[in-house]
Amino acid sequence: MNELIFYYPEKHEQHFVRDHPERPERVEVLRDRLDQAGLWQPEILVPPAVIEDSVLRAIHTADHLDRVRRASQSGRMVDGDTYTTPYSWQLAQNTAGGAISVAEQVFTRQAKRGFALTRPPGHHATPNQAMGFCLLNNIALAAEHLLQVQGAERVAIVDIDLHHGNGTQEIFYQRPDVFFCSIHQYPLFPMSGLANETGSGEGKGSTLNIPFPPYAGDQARQAVLDRLLLPLLEDFQPEMILVSAGFDAHWRDPLGHQVATVDGYASIVAQLAQFADQVCGGRIALLLEGGYDLEAGAACGVAVSQALAGQSWTDELGPSPFPEDDYWESRLEQVLKVWDRI
Ligand SMILES: [Zn+2]
Repeated sequence: MNELIFYYPEKHEQHFVRDHPERPERVEVLRDRLDQAGLWQPEILVPPAVIEDSVLRAIHTADHLDRVRRASQSGRMVDGDTYTTPYSWQLAQNTAGGAISVAEQVFTRQAKRGFALTRPPGHHATPNQAMGFCLLNNIALAAEHLLQVQGAERVAIVDIDLHHGNGTQEIFYQRPDVFFCSIHQYPLFPMSGLANETGSGEGKGSTLNIPFPPYAGDQARQAVLDRLLLPLLEDFQPEMILVSAGFDAHWRDPLGHQVATVDGYASIVAQLAQFADQVCGGRIALLLEGGYDLEAGAACGVAVSQALAGQSWTDELGPSPFPEDDYWESRLEQVLKVWDRI
């Protein structure tokens, strides 16, 4: 069994517009650093799966798929900040297929752990709308594949990107078979993910949102794991954990004001991997979401890969020059109050 597999989106450099933060270098710099760290060999790269039509239709509407395909044909923007090029539709399908491949190989124990370098990212894509640089919701398609095709009954998604994973939330909001947790800065795009958004109908109690104020960092995120996330995952008993791994909560990132570190990111992933060892046969895989400072994205990407592989990591970028503000504690108390009532 391979210890750590990766998916790499071939020809992704063709999905590109000038001066946009979601640029090909994000993946290229990360790949170079993974290579330098000895984690990147041809035999651990998985090809993208073809997405089953029933899986695609369970996550996205026919209108949405049609709109993205047609926008890509002419290389149009789908909204003010979400672009396509003539290759984007093919790349979006490939990259979601890559996420599915990684998830499937880890779920079926052909690989111990995996990391899909998904580009474009996916967690803002709703059933019916491309937004926030996202065209197809890669992690939702991977989770649905595990449930629908691989026979899983419960999958957990943990979103540690700077931004709320609104698309993933909307897709699974009424479903009890996917536990979704998002830790994010609020207020910030996409302006959702409040503490009282906890799921509805049969999905009540299957969505956990932690909206942190600016200048929350590693301590704040660790407190979420200790006080809410790991206990709730313990109750949920997932058969696999998928992580929306966006690195834009790092203190160097230009899009937000969280002050997480490389060390903090790796520590969260190491703890989730350890939890997976105890609860779901070690089944955990990461999918790349945001992260717009090239150095921070690459350093976090290498460190979380080392954490997944059970190796030690180093934080060459160090702690934030801006101190962590303890205002996050009152926000977390508010979340705990909401969950006391569920
Ligand atoms: Zn983000």
